[in-house]
Parts: sequence; structure tokens; C-alpha cells
Amino acid sequence: MESPIGRQFGGARRRLIEELQAKGVNDLAVLRAFDLTPRHLFVPTGVQHRAYDDSALPIGNAQTISQPSVHGRYLAALALTGTEKVLEIGTGSGYQTTLLAHLAAQVFSVERIAPLLDRAREVIRDCGVSNVSLLLGDGTYGWKAFAPYDAILVSAGSPDVPQPLLDQLAEGGRLLVPVGGREEQSLLCIVKRGDTFEQTELAPVRFVPLLGDHGWTQ
Ligand code: SAH
Repeated sequence: MESPIGRQFGGARRRLIEELQAKGVNDLAVLRAFDLTPRHLFVPTGVQHRAYDDSALPIGNAQTISQPSVHGRYLAALALTGTEKVLEIGTGSGYQTTLLAHLAAQVFSVERIAPLLDRAREVIRDCGVSNVSLLLGDGTYGWKAFAPYDAILVSAGSPDVPQPLLDQLAEGGRLLVPVGGREEQSLLCIVKRGDTFEQTELAPVRFVPLLGDHGWTQ
């Protein structure tokens, strides 16, 4: 049964899902995760009327929630089956964290801005999601205690691939990370095969900077 939270904005959410399909997001598990995740709860009330537009929106503290079709392509590239342990760097609003919670077994997410993390924690709880663990800190170090991870997603752009994240990948595990300049990056998919890392460039992207010891240091 759908919760009252789930029913609110239901029509708008359905239309967003149709738009995502039209834009090439066809993975059924990913579309189901969008259907289960009330995006309007993750954005400030002032922009709630635009919550189901396919656009990036401000979430406070100079950060943004990404465009849903970007999340969609990102999540489809991970090809999750529901059994995985996933690490996310850059919790932000917690929206993508919640999408991941519907696609994987366990989600670990690290955010460096305390007020964002506090708000995300509340909204994730209100969504009834219980397979998410959150940590305040510099995510360029990953989250060693629960490594290795089957998938790692970095939601902010980095000048290089942070070494600790490579170290925390499981065999066959995938790391998605935007790498490049402060304004524009290339989304890399890196797969660990024994001692080597296979790297593919997926798409040009624009993410806010990954600020930390293994990212942008200033
Ligand atoms: N995916 C998020 C949006 C992320 S915006 C969502 O769905 O809302 C990128 C986030 O990465 C911001 O919240 C920013 O504070 C965070 N961030 C940047 N550098 C970080 C670091 N070193 N460790 C953890 N989080 C970081």
C-alpha cells in the first residue's frame, strides 16, 4: 500500500518517469526506484513545485540536487541487482541515497556538510528506508570500516580518482566518478579486475567540486 507521502505529487512523479523513459532511462529497477522516492521531500519548500521537473535544483549550502535523468543514467550504469553493498560520496539532499536504497542491499553515504547530512537523515527516515548508514566527514577517504564495496558513486567532481576509493572496491566492483576541471568533468566508470582497473569514459558531466584531501584541496 502506498503511504500518504508516496501518494502526494503522484501524478507529477508518474510524468517524470515517462519523461525519463523518453530520454532513454529504460532500466525497470531504476524507474521503480524513482517511483518509490518522493523527490519533493528532498528539495526546499520554495522549489517544491519544480520537484518533478527534470532539472537540477538548489538544496542550500551552495549545493544542488542533480537532474533526475543524470541520476537515472548514473544508476543504470551501475546495473545493481539488489544484493550489493554501495558507497556514495556526497549525500547532499539524500535523494540519490534513497534511490540507491531501493536498488541495493546496503547503502553507506558520506557528506562533509553537517546541516545537509542532518536534513538528509530526517527525510530518509520519513521515507521509511532503513538500509542506509550516514557518516559526516571527508568522503575522499571513503568509509573504510565497511569496505569493500560492490559499487562506489561519487556525486561531486574531482581533479583525479581518489586512491582510497580504488582501494575500497570489491573484486568486479564499479566506481563511478566525475573527473576533470572544477566546472566540467568526464564521468568515468572504473571496474576492478584483480590488480588492474578497467576505465571507460561515459559522458561529459557538470558536478559541484569534491572538496577534500584526495579531491580539490582548496
Ligand atoms: N546526489 C546528491 C547531490 C550531491 S551534490 C543529491 O541527490 O542531493 C554533491 C555533494 O557532495 C554536496 O552535498 C557536497 O557537500 C558533497 N561533497 C563535496 N565534497 C565532499 C567530500 N569530500 N566528502 C563528502 N561529501 C562531499
